[in-house]
Amino acid sequence: MAAEKSMAADKAGRESSAAAWEAEYDQVRDLLSRKFMPLRFPPALEPHLQRTMLSQAMNTIRENYGLLFMMVVAITLMLVSKYIVGGIWIAPPEDLHLLLVNGFGSALGLLAMVMAVQQPWLQRFFVPVTLCVITGLLVMVNLTTASLLDESLRQGSTYVVIFVLQLVYGVSSLPLAVTAFIGIGGMLLSSLLIWGMDLRFDWWLFAQYAGLANFVGIGTGYVIEVRQRRLFLQSRLLDLERRQLNRLSERLVQLAREDGLTGLANRRHFNDSFLIEWERARREHQPLSLVLADVDHFKAYNDNHGHIAGDKALVQVGGLMRQVATRPTDLAARYGGEEFVMLLPNTDTEGAQALATQLLQAVDRAAMPHKASSVGRHVTLSLGVATVVPDDHMAPMQLIDRADKALYAAKTGGRHRVMVAEPL
Ligand code: GH3
Ligand code: MG
Ligand code: MG
Repeated sequence: MAAEKSMAADKAGRESSAAAWEAEYDQVRDLLSRKFMPLRFPPALEPHLQRTMLSQAMNTIRENYGLLFMMVVAITLMLVSKYIVGGIWIAPPEDLHLLLVNGFGSALGLLAMVMAVQQPWLQRFFVPVTLCVITGLLVMVNLTTASLLDESLRQGSTYVVIFVLQLVYGVSSLPLAVTAFIGIGGMLLSSLLIWGMDLRFDWWLFAQYAGLANFVGIGTGYVIEVRQRRLFLQSRLLDLERRQLNRLSERLVQLAREDGLTGLANRRHFNDSFLIEWERARREHQPLSLVLADVDHFKAYNDNHGHIAGDKALVQVGGLMRQVATRPTDLAARYGGEEFVMLLPNTDTEGAQALATQLLQAVDRAAMPHKASSVGRHVTLSLGVATVVPDDHMAPMQLIDRADKALYAAKTGGRHRVMVAEPL
């Protein structure tokens, strides 16, 4: 019964995981075949995608520290070469203060982003940190634009806004929802502050460059995100197919080693394991035991109870064998027909005999009715036990022969018993 149950549980597990696999496979293929890629996947996929995109965004920053540094140096050099002549700042001094504040603020913001990327405990705040830092940066630059006195500096700082927006939309690898929030939010917040502070500002120009930069940015961001989503789905599909192949090949290996009726190891698997254990026992000078078991009067059982009941009885005996051969190295196998075998590495004659007796008693306790047995009213077993410490002069077949002879002795001795082969 236990064996039947565990096989049924195995099958149910396989079926439910196959159904989950199929559902995901269909979903991924369906999404890939759509004309318009949705910017939000079903709940089973979206979190995976978000995680992938965030880790990509963090990698983008990590991989481009050098580039960021060069940008900062380039801007500084531009300012220095244009506005410092003979060591003296030639634009209005208020502008220098403003630019220094900007530089300091940007450095702090970039530091916060680097921290959010580098510190594992901060990584889950990566999006809010980035959102605050870049929005803050945009607001700061816009306020600066409105406050600078020098016209050429004012113009330069509008380029910075366009440049930052391009980086956010085109390079950051962040989801479009986040980048659009940063871009539009940053502009609206800036407008509010500039309006509230009543600064001198060219609103028309601002609407043009900020509006256009956002518009183009959102278009670019959309194309990039669709591409990212498609790539994600394709790699997911490959992954699903690889998993399916692995599962199928595992199943094939299992099928090639398993007895279809009882779920025990089959004869081939037993043969392979037997030779491996034989070699190990020979190298390590350890005993190796075999217990051969044969159901008594099983032909008569089939004739009286039917073949299907016969199969069930075999499954039940198989389950009991599994319960008896409990060590990880023990192997219970169906040797053929109504014959079973237990392969017991590192087990001496006494140990093997004890296990054989346990199996005999377990089958007795199971008390499967047998109407046509001359031995008893229930299904019974005959068992032959043989043990050897293999050496170079012995052949593995000799051990099987001895177990077989012991089993024959159990049969001729009246069945329903354990017989042990004489030691060599
Ligand atoms: P003994 O006590 O001497 O072992 O007698 P026996 O009848 O068990 O031995 P015999 O070798 O004459 O018969 C074995 C029977 O086992 C015959 C065969 O129909 C039955 N058998 C073998 N494999 C299966 C199986 O997979 N399912 C069923 N139901 N019966 C099987
Ligand atoms: Mg037989
Ligand atoms: Mg038999």
